[in-house]
Amino acid sequence: MNQTVLVAGGTVIDARGSRRADVLLQDGLIAQVDAKVTAPAGATVLEADGAVVCPGFVDLHTHLREPGGEDAETIETGARAGALGGYTALVAMPNTNPPIDTAAVVEQVLRLGRLAPCHVVASACITKGRAGEELAPLGELHGLGVRIFTDDGTCVADGGLMRRALEYARALPGAVLAQHCEDPQLARGGHMNEGAWSSWLGIPGMPAEAESVVVARDIALAGLTGGRVHFLHLSTAASIELVRAAKAKGLAVTAEAAPHHFTLTDSLCCGYDPLFKVNPPLRTESDVKAVKEGLADGTIDAIATDHAPHPAQEKERPFDEAPPGMLGLETALALTLTELVGPGLLDLEKALALLSWQPARLAGLADHGGPIAPGRPAHLTVFDPEALWEVDPTRLASRSRNTPYAGRKLTGRVRHTILAGEPVVIDSQAQR
Ligand SMILES: [Zn+2]
Repeated sequence: MNQTVLVAGGTVIDARGSRRADVLLQDGLIAQVDAKVTAPAGATVLEADGAVVCPGFVDLHTHLREPGGEDAETIETGARAGALGGYTALVAMPNTNPPIDTAAVVEQVLRLGRLAPCHVVASACITKGRAGEELAPLGELHGLGVRIFTDDGTCVADGGLMRRALEYARALPGAVLAQHCEDPQLARGGHMNEGAWSSWLGIPGMPAEAESVVVARDIALAGLTGGRVHFLHLSTAASIELVRAAKAKGLAVTAEAAPHHFTLTDSLCCGYDPLFKVNPPLRTESDVKAVKEGLADGTIDAIATDHAPHPAQEKERPFDEAPPGMLGLETALALTLTELVGPGLLDLEKALALLSWQPARLAGLADHGGPIAPGRPAHLTVFDPEALWEVDPTRLASRSRNTPYAGRKLTGRVRHTILAGEPVVIDSQAQR
């Protein structure tokens, strides 16, 4: 890659702060960052007037569906959706078919990912087949670069097994066990949050406690073993309070929250529309408020999309038969700006920390998350913080259409995305 690119006229924001600067990229690296840089002959100039230039976003939680679910998404289409959403790295969840629990499947995902307009990072299962019975070969998979292990979609419900996984993973540098917190017995048969709305609608519910009892148990196990636990998609006030207290004690726990859990409530299930069915389910107003507070005060380390594509015929089934999940990659930035930064809950730097450098660090991706400085890999996002747009499901790059935000007007849009010095999105258009 010998392309020379000048990102001109933007405001650079990274973990070091904010400044007006042009950014010159050469050979996949950041070459120069200065108030004014003259474009060398033959350079591609990307205008960034009025825009923010920041390290590319890192999603800790993407369901790319390949292998096995290519009617919903492929690594190529999911990565294109990611690039359009400002992401330069996606952690692919392992609940594929076959699941990512062997070296062969890790290698397959990485091989397909090398052609994609985002870096595709493989996570892998904690237990073989996500069956919760026997540990996957964590050491071998770690040797292929896997750092995040998860049975996502399913909770590692057996406390003894989770303890052994944590003890084992302690010997693997950078390894983190990411838990989908859902007690299977408490959640059994539920299709939405248990509460006033589920009673009113007659839809069986899952209590908030199905999440918080697992959070409490795994905090205890983190203390017992010294292993690193990451809590996926936290959705309840009680769970967030538990994580806040655990962090105050200095335990090695981290957490993420998904945009739908700080923007939508269980009242949206009122029309029995499976577009609003997701796991963990949409919760109450007070849970939404707690997620926002957790993001603002540092209890939650990352905004992760839980991008979960499903083909239309699956999502058009009755509420209790439809699979849970929502698209997320192409709306996460705008929802963060519209719902958190706009109302003053987060400043822009803090929002970008949650989208970029904090998840990059958590996933051990040293090349991502900045800082924007000479010699660093050129994985950048350029976005217009004030651009207004309306979500049109038919115009999303994902192979699926199951966004709960159709017709919603949002503020903030990605203008350019640059991966290893190559503009993969220019003027909000995917280049490949
Ligand atoms: Zn999950």
